[in-house]
Amino acid sequence: MSAKILDGKWLASIYEQDIHRQCQTLSEKFGSAPGLAVILVGDNPASKAYVGRKGKVAARCGIQTFDTRLAASASKEEILEHIVAFNKNPEVDGILLQLPLPGELSSESDDLIAAIAPEKDVDGLHPFNQGLLLQGKGVLRSCTPLGVMKMIDLALSDVKSGDDIESTDQIPVADLSGKKAVVIGRSVLVGKPVSFLLLERNATVTIAHSRTKDLSAVVREADIVVAAVGKEHLVKSDWVHSNAIVIDVGINRTEQGTLTGDVAFDEVAQACSAITPVPGGVGQMTVAMLMHNTLLSYMARMSQ
Ligand code: NAD
Repeated sequence: MSAKILDGKWLASIYEQDIHRQCQTLSEKFGSAPGLAVILVGDNPASKAYVGRKGKVAARCGIQTFDTRLAASASKEEILEHIVAFNKNPEVDGILLQLPLPGELSSESDDLIAAIAPEKDVDGLHPFNQGLLLQGKGVLRSCTPLGVMKMIDLALSDVKSGDDIESTDQIPVADLSGKKAVVIGRSVLVGKPVSFLLLERNATVTIAHSRTKDLSAVVREADIVVAAVGKEHLVKSDWVHSNAIVIDVGINRTEQGTLTGDVAFDEVAQACSAITPVPGGVGQMTVAMLMHNTLLSYMARMSQ
């Protein structure tokens, strides 16, 4: 049996249409569009490509962008000045500091993220927003974990990738009561927040990591597997059962220079019920969720 393929590019495009429609209506009503500020430090090619993609998607959604590009030699104080200015700028609803920061600045990432006004933290990485998530509250949840949840909703719906649907409202929010979820990875960026989002939907969640004993046996129990490790093709076909939904967050560069996930896609797709590809899966949804959060932040500002 072959699994339902969860096409992130397609799902992200439906989200973009939804966000564009709402941005148009609200911009006409309030006289200004949502604004997203992106701060890029240094010239890491992958970060530059990500920031470029975010700009293009924002434009498609009707979100205005404010780009700041700083040299890799920029000081922490210089970056802070830009964050503070964006915090005060009423046209900016969301602030994204592109990670990883270059060189020694990377050890300052936590401080810099904590300087972003929590209501503009569209990446959902501010400790205040992460604390709210822990409490089952809050609005701004980090983008990749949110994208994972939307993929699970698609997996459990009657909608198939490529269907001619008008809105993501046609994909119901799934109640995961009674389902066992195993998240592989415990990072602050992905593993922990996705675990709390799964818990919020009533799944029974196990967090596995590099010190977990007999990982394959733990994963085999799962109705939902989320792999967020960074190890090429770690999850094999005999790690999953035939009803499992497999969400691959991993992005690994192969020796040939192509991108691949943490899941051995070709074999696992023959063994489970639904699966995300890499590329073309969760990564696409991460950007769409950044736009979703920017819109939420704008709507919160307009409702004050
Ligand atoms: P990380 O390095 O911070 O965390 C990796 C986690 O994997 C750790 O908690 C570690 O305990 C666990 N781990 C490592 N080796 C393991 C093993 N052999 N068995 C079980 N667990 C193991 O990484 P991260 O930031 O969480 O990212 C994970 C992956 O997801 C990376 O490939 C990253 O590039 C990718 N990623 C993708 C997106 C996206 O938008 N698709 C976003 C963020 C991260």
